[in-house]
Amino acid sequence: MKKLKTFPKGGVYPNDNKELANSAAIRNAPIPPVCTIPMQQHLGAPAKVLVSPGDAVQEGMLLGEASGFISAHVHSPVPGTVKDITSVVLTDGTTSEAVIIELGGEFNRSGKNIQPVEWRNLSASRLLEKIKEMGIVGMGGATYPAHVKYTIRKGSHVEFFVVNGVECEPYLTADHRLMIEKTEEILEGTGIIRKILKPDTVLIGIEENKPDAIAVMEERIEQKGLDFHVVPLKMKYPQGDEKQLLKSLTGREVPSGRLPIEIGAVVSNVATVFSVYEAVVFNKPLIERIVTVTGSAVTNPSNLKVRIGTKISDLIEECGGFKIRPKKIIAGGPMMGFAQANADSPVTKGVSGIIAMPAGEARISSETPCIRCGRCIRACPMGLSPAHLYKRIDNRHIDAALKEGLMDCTECGSCGFVCPAGIPLVQGMKLGKLLSGKKRA
Ligand code: SF4
Ligand code: SF4
Repeated sequence: MKKLKTFPKGGVYPNDNKELANSAAIRNAPIPPVCTIPMQQHLGAPAKVLVSPGDAVQEGMLLGEASGFISAHVHSPVPGTVKDITSVVLTDGTTSEAVIIELGGEFNRSGKNIQPVEWRNLSASRLLEKIKEMGIVGMGGATYPAHVKYTIRKGSHVEFFVVNGVECEPYLTADHRLMIEKTEEILEGTGIIRKILKPDTVLIGIEENKPDAIAVMEERIEQKGLDFHVVPLKMKYPQGDEKQLLKSLTGREVPSGRLPIEIGAVVSNVATVFSVYEAVVFNKPLIERIVTVTGSAVTNPSNLKVRIGTKISDLIEECGGFKIRPKKIIAGGPMMGFAQANADSPVTKGVSGIIAMPAGEARISSETPCIRCGRCIRACPMGLSPAHLYKRIDNRHIDAALKEGLMDCTECGSCGFVCPAGIPLVQGMKLGKLLSGKKRA
C-alpha cells in the first residue's frame, strides 16, 4: 500500500471519537424564536451595525457592514424585528456587540424556489465581489474573510489551491458529512474559487479515517472529468492545520510570520467552499452552518444545519439533552476549542462543534511541576520548545518568548495533550501573545 502523506515534525494521536456522530445525516435544527447575531464573527474589525431597535428585518438582510480591509458583512439569519443591540459573550470568551432579532414575518428564502445563477458566465472579479457581499469567512475555525484571502496581490501566482477536508479535531464530523452529502456542491464551489485564483493545481486533502468521503469525491471528480486531485492523508493531529497541511501536500513550509500565498498556496476548508457555492449560485449570505453536537453526555449526537445566532443550549436540547451530567462543554474541537462556562453563547460562523463530556472523558487534570520529560517538544509540529516558552511567559519575559518563536505557535494543543504534568501550555501561549499585544498571523 502507498505510504500516506503527512507532515514531518511532531504531532499527536488522540482517539478520534468520531463514531458518535459520523453516521448521523445532517438535519435542520429548529429556528429559534430569538437570534443573537454578533458583529464580531470573523478575524479583523467587527462589522458596523446598520439597524436600530424596532426595525423590521428580512431573512438574509445586511445587519452589519464590514468596517475595514480585514472584516466581513453580517446578515440576518431570520425575518423579524430588532429587539435590542447589546453586548454578548462569544464561545471564545470575548465579547461582541450583537443584534437581537425576534422571529416574525415571512421567510423570503427558505422554502422558496430560488433560480440558480450560472456562475461560469460571471467574471472572476464579480465572483469575488459576491463572496464579499455574502459575508463568507473561513469556517474551519480561523474565520479569515474569504474575499480577502482570494484577493491575490499583483505579481503573485497561485500554484496550489487546497481544499481542506481533513477535519482532524476529534469528535467533529460536520465536514465529513458535508463531503458525503454535498459532494457536487463542494466540487462546484471549488470550480468557482479556481476561476478566481487560477491555480496550477487543485488538491483536496482528506484524512484516511473518512474513506467514504475520499471514495465519493474521487468518483464524482472522475465522472465529471475534473482535474482536481484527492489526496488521502495519514491520521495525525494537527493534519488540518493550514501550515501542516501544506507541508504534507506540497512539502513546502510557510515561513515564520507569513501567509500560505507566500509559498504559492491558498487553503480553504470544505465548509467554506460549500458556502462559496451557495453564495454565488443562490445569492445566499452566510446565515447558517453545519454544527456537530456530540460527546458521550449528549443523548443523540447529531450534525445539525443551524441558523447563526442560535444558542448552544437550544442545540443540546434538539439532540435530546444530556443523558449524563456533563463535566465539560466545549465549543469547537477538544484540542483547540473553548470550554464554556454556560451554554448561553450563540453559534457564530466559525463554530463547527459543541461537545459535552461527562467526568472521566473530560481531561481535567491538576497541575504539577514540569518533570522535563521533553514530550511537549517532540509533539510540537512547529518545532518549538513549549515548556521553555511557558516558563518565559510565566516569568513575563515576553520579548524573549517572542524571539524564541511564540508567534509561530498555532495553538494546536498538541503540547498540552501529551504533558504528564497537566501544565496548561496552550493557555500559556495564548496569554503570552495577549501580553505581547500581537495577534496570531
Ligand atoms: S500549541 Fe503551540 S507550542 Fe503547543 S504544540 Fe501546538 S504549536 Fe507547539
Ligand atoms: S511535557 Fe510537560 S512535563 Fe514534560 S517537559 Fe513538557 S511541560 Fe514539562
